[in-house]
Amino acid sequence: MDIRQGIPVSTGISIGEVFLLEAEGVRIPTRFVPQDQTHQEVGRLEKAFANALHQLRNLADDLREKAGQKIAEIFVAHAGMLADESFREEVFDRIRDKHYTAEFAVARTMRHWRKLFQSDDFLAPRVADLDDLERRLLRHLLGQKREELSNLTSEVVLVAHDLSPSQIASVDTDKVKGFATDAGGPTSHTGIIASALGIPAVVGLGTITNDATGGDTMIVDGSGGLVIIEPDRETYQRYSDRQRQVLESDQALLKELKNQPSETRDGRKISLMANIESPKEIDKAIQYGADGIGLYRTEFLYVQSDSIPSVNDHFHAYMDAIKGLDGRPIVIRTLDLGADKFSGTEAVIEERNPFLGLRSLRYCLKNPDVFEDQLRAILKASAFGNLSVMFPLVSGIEELKAAREFLDEVKSRMDEAGEEYDPDLPVGIMIELPSAVMNADALARYSDFFSIGTNDLIQYALAVDRGNEHVAELYRPEHPAVLKLIKMTAESAEKANIPVSLCGEMASSVIYSILLIGLGINSFSLAPPQIIPEVKKLIRSTDYADARELADAVLAAEGAEQAREVLEEGNKRIMESARE
Ligand code: PEP
Ligand code: MG
Repeated sequence: MDIRQGIPVSTGISIGEVFLLEAEGVRIPTRFVPQDQTHQEVGRLEKAFANALHQLRNLADDLREKAGQKIAEIFVAHAGMLADESFREEVFDRIRDKHYTAEFAVARTMRHWRKLFQSDDFLAPRVADLDDLERRLLRHLLGQKREELSNLTSEVVLVAHDLSPSQIASVDTDKVKGFATDAGGPTSHTGIIASALGIPAVVGLGTITNDATGGDTMIVDGSGGLVIIEPDRETYQRYSDRQRQVLESDQALLKELKNQPSETRDGRKISLMANIESPKEIDKAIQYGADGIGLYRTEFLYVQSDSIPSVNDHFHAYMDAIKGLDGRPIVIRTLDLGADKFSGTEAVIEERNPFLGLRSLRYCLKNPDVFEDQLRAILKASAFGNLSVMFPLVSGIEELKAAREFLDEVKSRMDEAGEEYDPDLPVGIMIELPSAVMNADALARYSDFFSIGTNDLIQYALAVDRGNEHVAELYRPEHPAVLKLIKMTAESAEKANIPVSLCGEMASSVIYSILLIGLGINSFSLAPPQIIPEVKKLIRSTDYADARELADAVLAAEGAEQAREVLEEGNKRIMESARE
């Protein structure tokens, strides 16, 4: 048993067989054989070695002519490795001594060699060659029976170095039950999508692709950020019991609270909305008691598609959402492409620093055709449902005015064409840059509502890449600087008499719920919707006055560490007094 601590990004527990994406990219169906079958496995492995060697020598000969000696040498080296006595002995010994299947013996041996290579500066750059060789051997061993990510037949935990938003969005959710990755930070989009799909995920594990082998049993504890490889029997039992209990208590809490209002004990109403990436998620959000959708991340229409969506593609998606919501509100955020969110086909320019580059609203303003198609579809759909539009990453008044003017131009063109839309469509903005907070009073004059995107706000305020595991410990939502920015935004909104909601991951973490209410937030947009009953329970056990007192105490802290301590103590006190 091997326990690894990473960064929790999608709650829940999953237990499954490891599917290692990088190394073999295929599933190893069986790992052990009875002792009397080991000679058959040895035979299978000998055949696979012979076939792979033959293939590699042909490949090298072919490439020598086509691409020159230097390229051919790569495959000569692969062949050399296959012929290496110590390597061969190690694989065959694993079958004979440990009764591994040929596939599992290859995977385990490769893991060992990868570790050896990585610890040697000279050999480290050759790790990719080992991966390649492993894939080749497994392809020979598994032949037509090979199971790839696209045609899995049983449930797995996907282990990878990193996963892009589009990779994660396209997995078969009936089969992939958990994610564990080497890379990734606290609010990377990989985690956000995993959470939307309801799949437990832990990122930033550093070396999990080396530590786990395809076919291992793995527990992913997406709440505690733990990953357990090959758990012992007691641990396995404990986690499967917890998995069942969590499910049962979630259902009980939902039943208890579904029809109760979301308000503090002293009557302050806090609306609970859900974040979605696709209209498909709406039914679940409503089932868990969401008042509506506070953030629809429409860029996923792009990320998941091979071509740029047309007006109709947008319109159909928005109409699907409207139908599912039955009159409840939805906030459609315009494209937030760029940085870590882009599609395979989108012509994203090479930028030295994409997080500070042509992303999001800036991208839309420079690509008016793309922007117009989306705005047209939103306006068209506004004639049928309770819609608002929201602009992301607004950095100043000029950008907001330009976006609003563009929206007005699209409206005029629709007027000329006789197309219907809601003339009073509310227009809001995301507050996710320190510059927007500092200038929130002015921005409020041109906005019907604010929504605070803490994922980006924290990243830009603290200069910590939200998706980078190496600086993850510096990403602190409770940092007093962040809390002051949230409070300032809430105050500006209150002065201007416009609603302010919070839609970053911070809204989905119950430790911050009371604090945020105390800072003046009166609407949360969360994901996954399964946590709505828990947040509602907390809200219903709290007085607004106590929440404000807690916020003042946390704001007075000198730094993030101290703020965390004050927050934890304050939360405990409030919960204890609620129980009395
Ligand atoms: C945010 O930045 O907090 C947010 C909600 O938007 P996204 O995570 O899509 O950048
Ligand atoms: Mg954002």
